Amino acid sequence: MAVTRTFSIIKPDATRRNLTGAVTKMLEDAGLRVVASKRIKMSREQAEGFYAVHKERPFFGELVDFMISGPVVVQVLEGENAVKRNRDVMGATNPADADEGTIRKTYAESIEANSVHGSDSDENAKTEIEFFFDEDEIVG
Ligand code: ADP
Ligand code: MG
Repeated sequence: MAVTRTFSIIKPDATRRNLTGAVTKMLEDAGLRVVASKRIKMSREQAEGFYAVHKERPFFGELVDFMISGPVVVQVLEGENAVKRNRDVMGATNPADADEGTIRKTYAESIEANSVHGSDSDENAKTEIEFFFDEDEIVG
């Protein structure tokens, strides 16, 4: 199976509870390598742009407010079948539906404050990585 990349965000609910390391360990234990990482405070414009696909959804405004409510850690993850591998360890969007042993089951507070983002396709991974990283920031 091919080594690919995906894009991850450790969301404000997790950074607030000092879970950056704990979440990253679950990603690493799932076979993903952090090949780029930075802790940032997203601007409203960045959050609206990143989640533009959801702008017609009723929770869009709240989601943007949440994503700018504290620092986040944006990461590029590499591994075999990285998009699916990451989605599997993240668990379902709603932690109430997430499987045992997943990041969201373990740490998420709610369907909104669900600790992590992960790309849902190789194509979106590429777009999302380029949204936050220059190629020379992805250092392996
Ligand atoms: P995922 O992050 O699992 O790919 P979506 O792409 O559907 O889920 O949604 C993006 C994010 O929007 C979710 O991770 C969550 O933070 C938020 N969200 C999704 N559905 C809801 C909802 N019904 N109410 C509030 N926030 C939501
Ligand atoms: Mg999504």
